[in-house]
Amino acid sequence: MANLEKETIVVIGAGILGASSALTLLETLPRNKYHILLVSEYFSTDGPNPSYASTLAGAHYRPIPATTPQLKKEARLAHSTYKRFKKLAAEHPEYGVKFMEGIDFVSGEAAPAYKALLPEYVDLDGFRVLEANEKPEGVEFGARYEAYTVDPEVYMVHLLRRFRLTGGEVRRMRLKSVEEAFEINGNKGVKMVVNCSGVGINDPKSFIIRGQTCLVSNPCDKTITQQHADGTWSFVIPRPLNGGTIVGGTKQPNDWNPEPSLAVRNQLLKNAAKMYPAILNKKGKFDVIRDIVGRRPAREGGMRLELQTLPSERKVVHAYGAAGRGVELSWGIAEEVLKMVNAALGLESRSKL
Ligand SMILES: Cc1cc2nc3c(=O)[nH]c(=O)nc-3n(C[C@H](O)[C@H](O)[C@H](O)COP(=O)(O)OP(=O)(O)OC[C@H]3O[C@@H](n4cnc5c(N)ncnc54)[C@H](O)[C@@H]3O)c2cc1C
Repeated sequence: MANLEKETIVVIGAGILGASSALTLLETLPRNKYHILLVSEYFSTDGPNPSYASTLAGAHYRPIPATTPQLKKEARLAHSTYKRFKKLAAEHPEYGVKFMEGIDFVSGEAAPAYKALLPEYVDLDGFRVLEANEKPEGVEFGARYEAYTVDPEVYMVHLLRRFRLTGGEVRRMRLKSVEEAFEINGNKGVKMVVNCSGVGINDPKSFIIRGQTCLVSNPCDKTITQQHADGTWSFVIPRPLNGGTIVGGTKQPNDWNPEPSLAVRNQLLKNAAKMYPAILNKKGKFDVIRDIVGRRPAREGGMRLELQTLPSERKVVHAYGAAGRGVELSWGIAEEVLKMVNAALGLESRSKL
C-alpha cells in the first residue's frame, strides 16, 4: 500500500530517542496501515552541534544504584537496552557498539549508595567489588562489570540508515509547538505524534546540562569512571572501531557556552592520567584529536515518558529529558513508546524487543 493510503505517525526529533522509537514503531506496527515520519531540525548526518546531544555523547553504560523510584524505573529501561545492545554488538559490530570491562571508582557523598550494593546495581554480567589494591589511593568504593561503549557518530548514522531502508520518511523542519506536528500533513492529517525533542518544545521544566569532553587517539580497552569526593567526574570511554577515547567530563547545568575551555581540557586530561596512567603514550602524554561540547537535555523531576491527550482527542507520547543517560536507556524508552502508541491506537502489544 502506498504511503498516501496509510495513516501517518509523526516522531519529532532525530536524536537517539527519536530514531530508536521511530525504528521500533516502523518495525513493529502493521506496515500496511502506518507510515512513520521522522521530523527534526538536526540529523546525525549534520556536523556537530551542541544542541544535538546524541552524536556528542561518550558514550558508555554505567549502572547507578537505584535509590529513588525514578532511578528504579531507569534501571529497568537500562536493562532492556543492555540486552538489545548485547545482541547488536554480537551481530552487527559495524554499528559501533562494543562490550568491554567497566570500572567504577566512587568517593564522597555518593559512596554509601554504591556500598549498599542494591540489586539494580550489582545485577550485571561480571559484577565484582574491587579489592583495596585494585583502586587508586583514597578511593572509597570500586567495582567492575561488563559494560558497553558506543561510538555515537557511527551508531546514529546506522540507525537513521536502517530507518530509511525499512521505509521510514525523514523531513527537516523546526516545529514551533507539538500541536504543529498534527498540521504538517495538510488535509490528510496525522494520526498521532511522538515527541522526542530532547528538551521538549516550550516545556518550562526542561533545562540543559553542558558537558565538555576531549577525544584523544590513545587507545584504551576498558571504560573507567571516577566520581570524586568534590562532586566532579573523570572518565575514559574507548570508542569502538578505533574511534579514539573520550576523556571527560563536566556536568554544568544551564551553561549554554558552546566553546570548549582549554583550562578545562587540561584539568580533565590531568585527572584521567592520574586515574589510569596506562592510557598515556610512550612520552607520558595524551594525543588530542578535538574538544567536544554538548548539551544533555534534562528535565526537573526526571525525564517525561507519558501519553497525553490534547484537545480534539489528539494523542501525543512524550519521551524526552533523558539528561546524561539517553544512550543507555534508548531501547528501553523505545519499548515504552511502542506500548503507549499501541494503547493510543487500540492495538495489541507486538513488541519485537
Ligand atoms: C558530553 C556528553 C556525554 C554523554 N555521555 C553519555 C553516556 O555516556 N551515556 C548516555 O547514555 N548518555 C550520555 N550523554 C547523554 C546523551 O547524549 C543524551 O541523553 C541523548 O543524546 C539524548 O537524546 P535525545 O534524542 O533525547 O536528544 P537529542 O540528541 O538532543 O535530539 C533531540 C532532537 O530533537 C530535535 N528537535 C528539538 N526541538 C525541535 C523542534 N522544535 N523541531 C524539530 N526538531 C526538534 C533536534 O533537532 C534533535 O534532532 C552524554 C551527553 C553529553 C553532552
